[in-house]
Amino acid sequence: MDTKKLSALQLIELENKFGAHNYHPLPVALEKGEGVYVWDVNGKKYYDFLSAYSAINQGHCHPKIINTLIEQAKKLTLTSRAFFNDRLGIYEKFITGYFEYEKVLPMNTGAEAVETALKLCRKWAYEKKGLKENSAQIVVCEGNFHGRTTTIVSFSIDPDAYKNYGPFTPGFIVIPYNNADALEKVLSENSNIAGFLVEPIQGEAGAYVPDDGYLKKCYDVCKQHDVLFIADEVQTGIARTGKLLACDYENVHPDILILGKALSGGTYPVSAVLADNYIMDVIHPGQHGSTFGGNPIAASVAITALNVIKDEKLSENAFRLGNIFRQQLEELCKQSSIASFVRGKGLLNALIINNEGDKDMAWEVCVRLSENGLLAKPTHTNIIRFAPPLIITEEQLLECIDIIKRTINENF
Ligand SMILES: *Cc1c(COP(=O)(O)O)cnc(C)c1O
Repeated sequence: MDTKKLSALQLIELENKFGAHNYHPLPVALEKGEGVYVWDVNGKKYYDFLSAYSAINQGHCHPKIINTLIEQAKKLTLTSRAFFNDRLGIYEKFITGYFEYEKVLPMNTGAEAVETALKLCRKWAYEKKGLKENSAQIVVCEGNFHGRTTTIVSFSIDPDAYKNYGPFTPGFIVIPYNNADALEKVLSENSNIAGFLVEPIQGEAGAYVPDDGYLKKCYDVCKQHDVLFIADEVQTGIARTGKLLACDYENVHPDILILGKALSGGTYPVSAVLADNYIMDVIHPGQHGSTFGGNPIAASVAITALNVIKDEKLSENAFRLGNIFRQQLEELCKQSSIASFVRGKGLLNALIINNEGDKDMAWEVCVRLSENGLLAKPTHTNIIRFAPPLIITEEQLLECIDIIKRTINENF
């Protein structure tokens, strides 16, 4: 291919022709990011209100994280776990202290970390809880999103996610979300339950926030029945919802905590499963692993990415600006016939669009928003998620609220 710069249209055509069509992107081709902004190949600047599904909490190309990435890449990138290296142990000590667990199991993607948690939970159930081999069940929630592996889509209720990917992995029980009584019922009727896997706020379902007290009640029910409470905080964790973890709102310390996405500030695939020794010690050498898991770049980058969260007070910023954002969008919903309501926590929010007249309404709103310099993407056809980098300032946020209000009021 020649080195002449390609147009947005040409780049889109390349992806369409040579890439599998497993995504449906907005027609914008980006080439640069810095802080809350991204630029397309024509030099047009946008606010990024998706943040790569909350992987970019610390902002695009955060200078400290990028510097760590470059310095470590020049020195040592990958050893595999066949040998020790000078970064992993330091990272393990750091992240377990940061989230208050005794051990971490490092992986790369969110889905791998979820798989790890499921395996860990089952193994714990057989070796510690005393369930009969192959009998363990894990309870999950309707509307869940935990990734794309065959096992994980086995308990999705979204046909797009599971259809024609069977046969599926057995051993999962789906109950309604935001219903602690349903959990209590299934745990009291079934003695083969090993764990309860839950998103503290359902991200892909459209920033669906459960009632106050739900997580604590579920946690308590799990404790009563010797069932592990497993929190998937891949999207909600790392300051996104206005606390370090969404579970912190209810002072719940999950038995198993799953992290990913912003663990690297969006620079590198880094995920982690955290638990205490009585759980983690069921895994012995050779029983689980990953070639890249815990590599020196990942370890170094994650330390810096987590330091940035605390140094720049990103939880506090997300908490404060999230309140302003929802309050302002509620005003919009009062006036608009297509903006129905807003929900969320911290800077993980969603605007629900009334698409009765036009089922593509939310998509059209997003296209208009992009023309006006703000990038967001619909989820489940009528929900627009708004999740800017957490480093956004109040002034920038107010400008974005203005773009959203103007776009909706002038066009729809
Ligand atoms: C994105 C996400 C995952 C999957 O992470 P990948 O890195 O895409 O595999 C898992 N759980 C939740 C809650 C997510 O939002």
